[in-house]
Amino acid sequence: MAEYDYDLFVIGAGSGGVRASRIAAGHGARVAVAEEHRIGGTCVIRGCVPKKLLVYGSHFAEELQDAAYYGWTVEGMRFDWATLRDTVLRDVERIEAAYTSTLDSNKVAHFHEHASITGPHGVRLASGREISARIILVATGAWPVLPQFPGVEHCITSNEVFYLPELPRRIVIQGAGYIALEFAGIFNALGCHVTVITRGDTLLRGYDQALRDRLLQITMARGIEYKFHCPIDAVEKQADGTLSISAGRHDAIPADVVLIATGRKPKTDGLGLETAGIALGERGEIPVDEYNRTICESIYAIGDVTDRIQLTPIAIREGHAFADSVFGGNPRTISYDCVPSAVFSQPPLASVGLTESQAREAYGNNVKVFTSDFRPMRNVFADRHERGLYKLVVDAASDRVLGIHMIGPDSPEILQAAAIAVRAGLTKADFDATVALHPSMAEELVLMR
Ligand code: NDP
Repeated sequence: MAEYDYDLFVIGAGSGGVRASRIAAGHGARVAVAEEHRIGGTCVIRGCVPKKLLVYGSHFAEELQDAAYYGWTVEGMRFDWATLRDTVLRDVERIEAAYTSTLDSNKVAHFHEHASITGPHGVRLASGREISARIILVATGAWPVLPQFPGVEHCITSNEVFYLPELPRRIVIQGAGYIALEFAGIFNALGCHVTVITRGDTLLRGYDQALRDRLLQITMARGIEYKFHCPIDAVEKQADGTLSISAGRHDAIPADVVLIATGRKPKTDGLGLETAGIALGERGEIPVDEYNRTICESIYAIGDVTDRIQLTPIAIREGHAFADSVFGGNPRTISYDCVPSAVFSQPPLASVGLTESQAREAYGNNVKVFTSDFRPMRNVFADRHERGLYKLVVDAASDRVLGIHMIGPDSPEILQAAAIAVRAGLTKADFDATVALHPSMAEELVLMR
């Protein structure tokens, strides 16, 4: 008889948990996973995937408008939110089924209920079943944070936004991070009146200032309204079902939907971590070492619940490295250097490495910055005045490219390849020596002098 029911019990079947389960099972471990919501987690069910499909869907507004310049006439053009919403939700079901079948084909048992830890090797399912495991992995992700104000129960978060019964005429979005600006772009393109309200005056904290300024300028020109230094005091539901938002010294703002996007915090409620002696860190995260191990030897954690970098590909890498380390006889850590990121705003922005201000802090005056401020061909042709902005941040002493920052059409697609060069430590001279691929927007990367 085995000493434990399973070699590995994973709590949370999101991107990180599923990867860890599959790889550990491939190394011969007997694995089970518990998921209280749906298999796939935030990214697949209520994050990256459906969001990107909504971005694609909303982009047709611009493309159909541009089509006239290329000779196309589209008659009877109209948009139906329910069709887009339901097609996206169906695709989410498809991917959820694919994730489930990955677990099945790797012989990973799955329980569709809440699981909590009862000690270093114990887990209790909501149904009351007790399970033992040699190793427990917590991969429960993060959950939206809701600020406290009267009427917050009338607001929604990114968890609910994919299910809206109808397209709001007016939407107020609180926050100015990834989620706020991505949904501001989607709803603006779909024809809603969008108001972004923020507690300060900073969009996308951490991104290069020049890109943030450009995004603000373009999105304002597209009709998004910003109200800075404007914390929400209260949201009231009116007799007709609409909402009225009181915020700072502004007049009440009317809206059909209020979307709160003020960050996500590690999801640890009801996990029973204290039964294994695990205390949360300052940001509510589970503290782990570089091998994802908690203070309790048999319990590990990966992904957003550890609040290192809240990005799906990071959770996946952490899950894979954990499984190789603990079950594959190949102890390894992952690198958090040069992690590329993108905001699928409209236009999108993408970034890797040091921003100009971070580089100046680290390298003083020894930093050179090259920029290309250009109007993409497609914008010129469609008489759109929006300009792209690419920026290379270079260490003047070694000529090494320390960071690349881009805003403009398709910038995330372009940046992924350019990030390889930054990670590899290539120099500005290497960029200059690369022949331009013409005509493209990406060629700007090798033409900055
Ligand atoms: P972000 O951390 O990106 O942004 C949070 C925003 O909310 C900031 O503008 C912040 O303002 C503001 N804020 C924080 N607390 C309060 C408060 N109490 N009252 C008012 N405003 C507040 O969080 P998101 O929710 O947008 O996204 C969560 C995480 O999900 C991101 O960090 C990202 O890692 C991930 N994500 C990644 C995506 C991608 O890769 N494209 C897409 C979506 C999410 P301030 O700047 O002043 O602190």
